[in-house]
Amino acid sequence: MSPRPKLNRQLKEPPSVTGFIPINGDYNLADKVILLFEEYESIRLMDYENLTQLEASYKLNVSRPTLTRIYDSARKKVAKAFVENKPISIEGGDVSFNEFWYYCNSCYSSYKTVKQISIDEITCPVCNSGDVSFIQDSGDWPYHKVGKNHNYGKKLGIEGNCICPKCDKKIAHEAGIPCSSKLCPTCNIRMIRENTEHHKTILKKRK
Ligand SMILES: [Zn+2]
Ligand SMILES: [Zn+2]
Repeated sequence: MSPRPKLNRQLKEPPSVTGFIPINGDYNLADKVILLFEEYESIRLMDYENLTQLEASYKLNVSRPTLTRIYDSARKKVAKAFVENKPISIEGGDVSFNEFWYYCNSCYSSYKTVKQISIDEITCPVCNSGDVSFIQDSGDWPYHKVGKNHNYGKKLGIEGNCICPKCDKKIAHEAGIPCSSKLCPTCNIRMIRENTEHHKTILKKRK
């Protein structure tokens, strides 16, 4: 097999959401729409941050025609999922991240560092495990693999807190905004929902 082409599309960080499922529950998970990371990012930049195509193309480090193509594809996929009642999974694509993100294979925490640390030297700041992966590109981002181990398919409700898995700093959960989109300001670790299976797993491993 030939090596993968050089990655040049840049995301600030991996998306904090893994995907979406139709609210009525009447869907086939095997028949999901796969939204690539760069497609998700194009929607985030253009429709959420309201950047122009030119600005978005700089952020994603692609030419403007390429940005247009990615964005068109993204919107068509989202439309298909909406109209045809299909789940959306955000995964894959040809991107790299311009921050240094690590992922613990033991407690499933993820966090970033200001500079890159050798994978031999890094231990998980939450559970001290040495089984840590450096997330270099979207192919390494393991959310969609482990999502089912904790919150996937469970209704968490709108009450409760987001909590830092390391320092236990809590902030009130905001409806519709995943805790994982928030980073603990002290620890640079993605926050999680308090009292979920994932949270309980982390508390056990931390001891
Ligand atoms: Zn860990
Ligand atoms: Zn913290």
